[in-house]
Amino acid sequence: MANGIGKILTHLRDGGPTSRADLARATGLSSAGVTKICATLSDAKLLHEAAGKEPALGRPATEVSIRADGGYVLSIHLSPAQARVAVCNLDSKVLADDALSYDPSTPVATIVDKAADLARQVIASSAIPYGSLLGLGVGVPGSVDEDGRVNTHSVLAGWRDVPFAQMFEAALGLPTVIAHNASAIAMAEARYGAWKASESLLYILLGKGIGAGFVKTGAHERTSIVEIGHVVVNPGGPHCRCGGHGCLERYFSEDPLRGCIGQTDVPHEALISAAMDTSDWPQIYEYFLQALSTTVTLLGPEMIVLGGDLNTAPDAFVEALRADLPARVMPQQRTKLAIERTSLPAPVGVHGAACVALERFFFAHGPATLSRPSKAATRA
Ligand SMILES: [Zn+2]
Repeated sequence: MANGIGKILTHLRDGGPTSRADLARATGLSSAGVTKICATLSDAKLLHEAAGKEPALGRPATEVSIRADGGYVLSIHLSPAQARVAVCNLDSKVLADDALSYDPSTPVATIVDKAADLARQVIASSAIPYGSLLGLGVGVPGSVDEDGRVNTHSVLAGWRDVPFAQMFEAALGLPTVIAHNASAIAMAEARYGAWKASESLLYILLGKGIGAGFVKTGAHERTSIVEIGHVVVNPGGPHCRCGGHGCLERYFSEDPLRGCIGQTDVPHEALISAAMDTSDWPQIYEYFLQALSTTVTLLGPEMIVLGGDLNTAPDAFVEALRADLPARVMPQQRTKLAIERTSLPAPVGVHGAACVALERFFFAHGPATLSRPSKAATRA
């Protein structure tokens, strides 16, 4: 039954309100099975029922949809210098959020403690009871093990082999899953954003570093980390924290951009426009174009989504990319390729972590209270 719950919830998330008959057709479950699962979900206050559109003949069928307030997740987006925390509903809508900044050299155990303290404040401000939280999703800057427990690799010193899930579970008492942050946001764009009709999407996140996530949608949905920041654009160039030399990130990320602007306090939303006014810009833009065209040639995304500090780049930057990138990729990719800013509402980062938590703790099998025996029952 758990699998059936997951199929129905996933279909309702992606397809919106649906009649029971159409749910049975779409999921391959029997009509009786769909009726039984819908009754269970309705009893748990997870579904709405309403009359559908008026058909040409007869009465409209009753359609079921997910109640956005049927449950909540906690979401934490960790970047090298900032943690943003949010409480989100089942539609990934942010109900309360806050952020804290720290020095990138702060030990991860301290960052987890600070983020957990902030999370308790955000939960209190949301007025959502702790017991309504299904779990926690954490977006981290690095690769993650298959179970979503450990940050296995990162270019940040001290962020390798960190058991973030276990640490947050100990701090907050919520089941936790972690994911690479840009890949998680790519998935959130594919699930909840305006570009969800795209078959494949590359999300580029510019901040302290430049990372990306690739998502291929459809029956065999998958996400992957794209280390665009560590594509070598200038062999023999300056040393990079990944151990290489001349990586894109050494030219096209927050600190080097501020360096070429000559001001350390340029606000994020002005970073690209200020960099575009410098004499270094043509070379920096060329490096970005080189790394991006290589990435697009290899992965073939239909949609490139600009996030982080790229989201607030001037229109002239986006227009230049749209004009310059097609000539550098394969002909069959040119005709499909679209470049857009992120469509997720601010704060964007937390949608990625929320999407991962919603998938793990709600959409995959339904909430734990429905699909898994309680601890007391297991012991008995
Ligand atoms: Zn590097």
